[in-house]
Amino acid sequence: MRRKAGQPLPRPAAPPKIAKPWSLRSSGNLKILELDAFKKLTWLIHGFSTVPGGVSELGGEKVLNLSFTDWDSPENVLANRKKFQTALGAPKFPLIALKQIHSAVIWPFIAAPKEPCKGDASLTKTPGLLLGVQTADCVPILLVDPKKRAVAAVHAGWRGTLARILEKTVGELHAHFNSNPSDLLAAIGPSIGSCCYEVGAELVIQFSSQFADAADYFDEPRSGEEPNPLQWLNMMPPGHQPPPKNVRLDLPKANRSQLLAAGLREKNIFSSGLCTACHPSLFFSYRKQGPRSGRLLSAIARKL
Ligand SMILES: [Zn+2]
Repeated sequence: MRRKAGQPLPRPAAPPKIAKPWSLRSSGNLKILELDAFKKLTWLIHGFSTVPGGVSELGGEKVLNLSFTDWDSPENVLANRKKFQTALGAPKFPLIALKQIHSAVIWPFIAAPKEPCKGDASLTKTPGLLLGVQTADCVPILLVDPKKRAVAAVHAGWRGTLARILEKTVGELHAHFNSNPSDLLAAIGPSIGSCCYEVGAELVIQFSSQFADAADYFDEPRSGEEPNPLQWLNMMPPGHQPPPKNVRLDLPKANRSQLLAAGLREKNIFSSGLCTACHPSLFFSYRKQGPRSGRLLSAIARKL
């Protein structure tokens, strides 16, 4: 549902319940979502941003938009980033925010790049570099190797998920820092949930061709009476949308499955379970708000 300009953001009756091992920390008028397992690591800085408390104005509200968008000024975004980084305790760290392209391109960094890099995951062991992922429905994942003190930030929409970006990032952590997957901790941040993420049935085919357990990601099982999605695909003229029969995709679940496949332990994977589209008071959602949505930032760094 699109809002007209000037209309207030729709408010849910009650704010989402943030349950352990997650918590919402207030810093000034910002609220930052954090994971207990990460907070315990004294050398680590991390946080998932939320909507309230920025200098940007959207629908009559002051919001923390952390990415450059058509509707907001670059000055506002930079001021918001400064506020967020200060709240994280990393006001002076260079923020490495990739030009995200829904790919499986992964960048290891030993220093901040001079030009922005195109890609969807970054990793580092260098203290003082803040890795960031910008989202408004896609899945942000932060990875930590407590033994090697390496960190990674991953952006996984359906294309990146299909391209196995998360699984590949675990491989890159091993390749660059000798990280053992069974040591890694993973935080799967707020993203659109299967409750609100209807996709074309052709995605069932695409995911099924890549993942043995793909049927588990789609929550609308097909009965024998319904047409096979493959037949729908074959009947479709090129460039046309699939028939209106849609399915719902659980992206956090698909990414959790990739982490398990990559060798992470179940007890080391933490999903926030928070849907960006269900909770507009806390999260931006492109699906819900359209092009005039803000962007959340999920960030991680080694302290200096
Ligand atoms: Zn939802």
